[in-house]
Amino acid sequence: MLTIDNLSATVADKPILNGLSLSVNAGEIHAIMGPNGAGKSTLSYVLGGRPGYEVTGGSVTFNGEDLLAMDPHERAAAGLFLGFQYPVEIPGVSNVQFLREALNSQRKARGQDPLSGGEFLKLAKEKAALLKLDMDMMKRNVNVGFSGGEKKRNEMVQMGILDPSFAVLDETDSGLDIDALKTVGEGINAIMRAPEKAVLLITHYQRLLDYVQPDYVHILAKGRIVKTGGPDLARRLEDEGYDEVMAA
Ligand code: ADP
Ligand code: MG
Ligand code: MG
Repeated sequence: MLTIDNLSATVADKPILNGLSLSVNAGEIHAIMGPNGAGKSTLSYVLGGRPGYEVTGGSVTFNGEDLLAMDPHERAAAGLFLGFQYPVEIPGVSNVQFLREALNSQRKARGQDPLSGGEFLKLAKEKAALLKLDMDMMKRNVNVGFSGGEKKRNEMVQMGILDPSFAVLDETDSGLDIDALKTVGEGINAIMRAPEKAVLLITHYQRLLDYVQPDYVHILAKGRIVKTGGPDLARRLEDEGYDEVMAA
């Protein structure tokens, strides 16, 4: 589904990704772990097409298409969703407005009819309930004044509504209390665990992986994948730390 081959990228002329290769099949969940500053968030921004992140080598293929040649809207319409480590606030635009607009623009790009206000609200209610987010929050301005945990749950509501085929989730577990962590983990499973879908889950901790069980765990260090294993790799990292596991 997604093939990253020898990808290199710079930010402000500084090399951050250095020959990163990774392949994800439909139906799989891959966790990416790695020390601070390794390039994990940079990878998600490059996949999303964020301005300022310059690809200097390699390729990314998404469902057989050249992902890097698409603009960010085309990537979203093709089924790619990005969850951010730091979700953006959008003053003056309600969650409901923002999401209906985003969903209908993706539907349009796919040649589908827009959802009516009523149809959209029904969908929004269903996904907000899944993530235990009050509908009042859906009417508030996007992320404005939301707590860290509310922003992350809101982001998962966005994912539920947009129903992507591929999600890149960057530290979705950061700032969540124990109950919210379980809600978010179960939400990711409900929305993304399917034979035709796949997830790249960037996380520092085993605790989210207790809920969302990965098929593969990768260590990203100095801009490339340096080790790949199964779920046990994440548990070893938690016990032993990066230095020891990477040296082994
Ligand atoms: P991670 O998510 O693995 O912690 P990041 O991808 O956020 O790492 O960052 C990788 C490196 O790129 C870090 O050294 C960071 O300081 C640097 N970096 C990221 N964005 C910029 C930027 N806009 N300007 C300069 N350096 C940046
Ligand atoms: Mg970090
Ligand atoms: Mg990061």
